[in-house]
Amino acid sequence: MLLLNPGPVTLSPRVRAALARPDLCHREPEFFALQDEVRKRLLAVHDLDPSTWTAVLLTGSATAGVEAMIATLVPRTGRVLVIENGVYGERLSEICDRNGIDSVRVTVEWGLRLPIDEVAQRLRDRPGITHVAVVHHETTTGRLNDLEVLSAICRARGVGLLVDAVSSFGAEAIPFDGIAACASTAHKCLHGAPGIAFVIARRAALDATDAARSLYLDLKAYARLQDKQSTPFTPAVHVLHALREALHEHADEGGRAARMSLYLRRATIVETGMARVCDIRPLLPAVESSVVLRAYRLPRKVSYEFLHDGLKARGFVIYAAQGALRRILFRIAVMGDLPDADLERLVLATSEVVRVAKA
Ligand SMILES: *Cc1c(COP(=O)(O)O)cnc(C)c1O
Repeated sequence: MLLLNPGPVTLSPRVRAALARPDLCHREPEFFALQDEVRKRLLAVHDLDPSTWTAVLLTGSATAGVEAMIATLVPRTGRVLVIENGVYGERLSEICDRNGIDSVRVTVEWGLRLPIDEVAQRLRDRPGITHVAVVHHETTTGRLNDLEVLSAICRARGVGLLVDAVSSFGAEAIPFDGIAACASTAHKCLHGAPGIAFVIARRAALDATDAARSLYLDLKAYARLQDKQSTPFTPAVHVLHALREALHEHADEGGRAARMSLYLRRATIVETGMARVCDIRPLLPAVESSVVLRAYRLPRKVSYEFLHDGLKARGFVIYAAQGALRRILFRIAVMGDLPDADLERLVLATSEVVRVAKA
């Protein structure tokens, strides 16, 4: 079965084998060597300077990283402007609400561009805003939100930009110059197993916060202990072994830019194939979409359920859209161990299922 959902991904044999490495106590030097190496390699993925940046590991799904980032890096007196153009943007607001963080929202319909002018105006009108929170690749629709202009605005106003880079870190370019921190996970573009999240934060941003709203998601505590070869709780040791292997594999294959090219090639095979054999069209133009995942319009008279079940019977797991989009879209992610030949097979399988549906 090949996974075309936006994480977890189909693991390569070498990453899967790393899950079965010998058991390791998390209070032994061997574990700390593993932890140090993974933290160092995570910064290297985006060429970040370790004297400015730190990579902090948490055990949990991606959302644990996003919540730890927001709940720790926004100081007690902070106020966040959240930009929403999909499910994960809305989740950022919910994280603020649940953690008692003062926040305001700028919302546009799912799938639309970031309303940059409105954001700039809000930042001018509301001087109390200390942070902006945004999703980089909004997996709801595949839209790659443009962070270049946004990060420049934040930097000019001295506002910290907090980024959900869960489904872009390791593949898409991220303009780190203008951001305070981003959160991501082992099990998307890095091709690790699910269970480890991480936050890449400016050391200065961690130093500047006084907030510890959560015991388990206290990013400062993780950072402090991980910096002195310790850890507050029992980490997912096996998943960390797999992440180390995945980071080696990522580097061996040419690093971040090579992974982006790989995804672009795969996404193009799927997109041109879908258009050719069954006239299935993408929701967004390619230049506005991530290379990681694209949303496609369901053909007329074909329900998502019928397409999903037909493709699953042929060995492919595709992904539903969320909310009202479920009736009109489906999504294909191209992360993981995924040979081109299988994507050609996916295109043919899709045309078969569509033909059956319309017969
Ligand atoms: C997948 C995803 C998440 C959440 O991931 P979990 O691992 O389920 O917590 C958050 N944000 C974005 C943009 C994602 O794609």
